[in-house]
Amino acid sequence: MSDIDFMDLDEDLGAPLKPVGKARHFHDANRIDTRSEDSGARFDCKDCRGTGRWTYSYGSRAGETKDCYKCRGRGWFKSSQEDRDSAKDKRQQQKFNAAKSRSDEACQFLADNPEIAKWLAHGETTAFGFAMSLHASLFKYGSWTPGQLAAVEKCIAKFNAAKDRKQTQQKAEQSDIDLTDVPSGLYMVPDGETNLRVRIRHATRGAWTGWTFVDDGAEYGSRRNYGRQDPASGATYNGKIQDQLRAIANNPKEAMARYGRETGQCGVCSRPLEDPESVARGIGPVCAKKF
Ligand SMILES: [Zn+2]
Ligand SMILES: [Zn+2]
Repeated sequence: MSDIDFMDLDEDLGAPLKPVGKARHFHDANRIDTRSEDSGARFDCKDCRGTGRWTYSYGSRAGETKDCYKCRGRGWFKSSQEDRDSAKDKRQQQKFNAAKSRSDEACQFLADNPEIAKWLAHGETTAFGFAMSLHASLFKYGSWTPGQLAAVEKCIAKFNAAKDRKQTQQKAEQSDIDLTDVPSGLYMVPDGETNLRVRIRHATRGAWTGWTFVDDGAEYGSRRNYGRQDPASGATYNGKIQDQLRAIANNPKEAMARYGRETGQCGVCSRPLEDPESVARGIGPVCAKKF
């Protein structure tokens, strides 16, 4: 068989011969392709009407042609449009089924491992981005690599250990002390064995209204917080310095008086105690009436 594409010659009548490798194959729907070496059926590409080329109709390249994107310049297919459509549907269905089975596998894995599912779903982790990417890869591939699984288990163990520590600590700090009736103010332990200064504060506005806070009364920034009491009925103080607070709560008046005598300041309003009577009492005259 000749190396020359005759249809190409028709198109480029009078033009020099082009190497067949680069020549374009033009034919119409009724034409039998004489170039073909196998005798299989040929179905024209509908997009380019079998020419294999598209022509730019406007723009800077108007009149120029380019390969048909559908048949990649060949102009024909070995199978009919219908067969190709159904093959495409089948491929998509297979792809969908595969994705669904990976997703089912991932769901089953999470159902079998509720602790991991919870860890992933709640983002209860300092490595939130890590959890998200693991979640994505689980659903993409249906399962994790052994390395990924080991990393997840390590994270969960770490998370649980931290949670246990926190719970143990909270339990240890829960007390039987009720500060509800101890007025807001500055106190020292009445017996005088410690110079610890304690501020008790009942929040009266904002989101923490009703809560009671215990700190050392220092400026904000250098302040040391000891603990707090929930406003819920029956709740008790949760925090540090429990022995000292118990002594203060047992005799708040004397605890504040000691604070006033030692510091020369009123424990309610922090103003200096001026007259000897106030100093001896450990509280200013106005605040003494309110206390
Ligand atoms: Zn085409
Ligand atoms: Zn005062």
